[in-house]
Amino acid sequence: MSKIDLRRLILLLALSTGVVTFANGLYSSYLTQRDLLMNQALAANRVYAAKQALNTDNFILSAQAHLAFSAQQLTHRMRQSERLSEEVDRLRLQSNDFNSAFVVGNDGRVLATSPAGLGLVGVKLKTEGGRAILGKREPVITEPYVGSTRHLLIVMSHPILGANGEYQGYISASIYLQERNILKALLDEDYRNDGSYAYVVDRRGRLIYHPEASRIGEMVIANPAVQQLIKGKEGTLRLINLKGVDMLTGYAIMKSTGWGIVAQTPTASTLAVLDQLMLDTLLQTLPLSLLTLLGIWWLSHWISRPLRRLAQNVQAWEEPEALDRLREIKTWYFEADHLKSAIIQGLSLLQQRLGKLNRYSLTDPLTGLNNRRGLRFELDKMLTAGKGFSVISLDIDHFKEVNDLHGHDVGDSVLKFLAEQMQACFRSDDVLCRSGGEEFVVLLPGLPITDAHRIAERLRLDMATQPSPSGHIVTISIGVAYMPAGGASVESVLKESDAALYKAKCSGRNCVISAAHPST
Ligand code: GH3
Ligand code: MG
Ligand code: MG
Repeated sequence: MSKIDLRRLILLLALSTGVVTFANGLYSSYLTQRDLLMNQALAANRVYAAKQALNTDNFILSAQAHLAFSAQQLTHRMRQSERLSEEVDRLRLQSNDFNSAFVVGNDGRVLATSPAGLGLVGVKLKTEGGRAILGKREPVITEPYVGSTRHLLIVMSHPILGANGEYQGYISASIYLQERNILKALLDEDYRNDGSYAYVVDRRGRLIYHPEASRIGEMVIANPAVQQLIKGKEGTLRLINLKGVDMLTGYAIMKSTGWGIVAQTPTASTLAVLDQLMLDTLLQTLPLSLLTLLGIWWLSHWISRPLRRLAQNVQAWEEPEALDRLREIKTWYFEADHLKSAIIQGLSLLQQRLGKLNRYSLTDPLTGLNNRRGLRFELDKMLTAGKGFSVISLDIDHFKEVNDLHGHDVGDSVLKFLAEQMQACFRSDDVLCRSGGEEFVVLLPGLPITDAHRIAERLRLDMATQPSPSGHIVTISIGVAYMPAGGASVESVLKESDAALYKAKCSGRNCVISAAHPST
């Protein structure tokens, strides 16, 4: 299985680092932006709730002032029904803040109403509000309740006291919670155009105002923001509202009534801009990212190139040009440079040693000629070349006697002497081998048997005419044979030359004999 290369590794590393860093950056920027947007929305809702609480407080205060003024106006006029009607009309119509206005006597009977046609004058009020107000000597704001007109309403009242402070009844004005009213005017605006809205709850957690009019009167005590308001706390909260919507809320309390205002924005709409923001960030960084990628690709190529070429050339180290090719590699950084030097050093040493070993294994140490293995090797080369060649086998005559007479060392010197004579006699292309103790073989490529015979004869003569290191003449016997191109076998031609040599020995030694029939 082929392994991943350095260049891909560098690319992969750089790419994964880049992606992780980028994703991390994008994610943390997402978190920061998200928190920022949510905190902004929470703060905005809190401010809005506080502002609307103040506005509503101001309205309540001014409404109470109006009621107080009217109450004062009526101190001596409780029996003037005309005047009472005028006063309640004025109260209701001057500002449009109230949906109805009543004057009620100290026995709880209605004395005047506005609008006039409600049919309640003379009726004794038995409503929740009526009971809560009657007899109170201070201004009252009731909880929401269903009044005699069948409206869900809240009532504000002011007592009417006589000159001596005796309780004469009260003047009241009501706000119909489910109809157009002052709260709706104050709060019913989709104030940020993003699904934000505000609602008002009373002290017990009942909706006094909500943009969905049908929900007014509903108890929403389960809402966490409302729970905080009931505890008298103001603040901000992220919550899931009763409809399951994730909301960012701000809530504040009205001082005059203790009612709470909750302003809220859906979290989803607050964060909607975030996706676009992230997409923009992504698109903005894309060109630079691509450019960086290109840079990394180029860099990885340059970093891995020297090592890749080193690896490729080391694989083919046996080729003679391997060292040259290694030297040509441009190694531009420390590690590659040192690696290259080390490889070149190691490889040249290896080649040197192998060469030596090769030579040793093929060479006869005494004479420096090829040994038997060398002969085999050269024969193979010649067979591959496919050309004809002559073979000369030679053997020293009576060599045993040389040893016996002069000692083994002198024998060795004679062997060396013969080798020198052979080297002088034959061409450089000819292959000289010491095939055994005092036996030699010469291969003469491309030379006909007659020429080989002639040269053999010259060698024999050289030896026969000059004294050897023993001080005496040492003669040799020689057999010659021929191996034509594409001849049958090397073994048979060697046998032929051996046979010729044997004949030479038998013929009295110190002579050259060629094989009668050249091998075919
Ligand atoms: P022939 O004329 O029949 O060849 O007789 P020869 O004595 O030369 O032949 P023989 O085969 O009887 O003896 C060969 C001798 O060569 C025997 C051995 O002592 C000697 N010899 C073989 N190798 C070496 C060597 O490396 N050094 C020395 N000094 N002598 C060797
Ligand atoms: Mg012999
Ligand atoms: Mg011999």
